[in-house]
Amino acid sequence: MEKLKQSLFNIIFYIVIIAVIICLMLLVLFAVMKINVAADESTFSGSACIVIDAGHGGEDGGAESADGIAEKGINLAISQALRDYFELSGIKVLMTRDSDMPMGDQSLPTLSERTREDFKERLALFNKENVDCVISIHQNKFTEPQYSGAQVFYSPNDEKSAALAEYIRKSITGLLQPDNQRQNKKADSGIYLLNNCTNPCVLVECGFLSNPEETARLADENYQKQIAFAIYTAVVEYMAKEN
Ligand SMILES: [Zn+2]
Repeated sequence: MEKLKQSLFNIIFYIVIIAVIICLMLLVLFAVMKINVAADESTFSGSACIVIDAGHGGEDGGAESADGIAEKGINLAISQALRDYFELSGIKVLMTRDSDMPMGDQSLPTLSERTREDFKERLALFNKENVDCVISIHQNKFTEPQYSGAQVFYSPNDEKSAALAEYIRKSITGLLQPDNQRQNKKADSGIYLLNNCTNPCVLVECGFLSNPEETARLADENYQKQIAFAIYTAVVEYMAKEN
């Protein structure tokens, strides 16, 4: 019965994916037409550039589940899947990291120096010129295990960040988490990179590593691709309508 439910879910999920892909192709076409009509030299596929930040890395594992699954690996897997979707659409992607290595000089003697360099280099990429938006991927953790679901934080420095966060919230809840009631939150100084990013920028906490069921989903390659796909569709819609 459980297997039947799972395959039914898979069939429905792929039907939804195909429908979303058709909508996306129309949106990309619309965006290209809109930009060309505006006599802009650039085209959507030729000039768009997105920064994807896989949170943590290396000696900084980030949050950890009770059974020892580190946030950094899930962040990287979702970021790489997201990168693949964008690149398939001809959209340029810059990654803060594409392996377990963080940014910055890792030969520095102290952890605080290495962390400072990592943040400095990530922020430089976040604030690079001609970047359309920055997507930072993280996972949440709380003291109680029952909480689950994605939450999107947005930078206070560019009003487009809040709009982008809302596209992502709607996409994740619509495709994957219909019961998720979490609202987007404006980042404060506690989230250094968002607070100092000048490009449109969001941080997606995809789920809670303190929740065993959600941790199992987040560690699953198919679910990682589904989360990435939900974010991808949201960003494409944002770029077509708001950029
Ligand atoms: Zn994190």
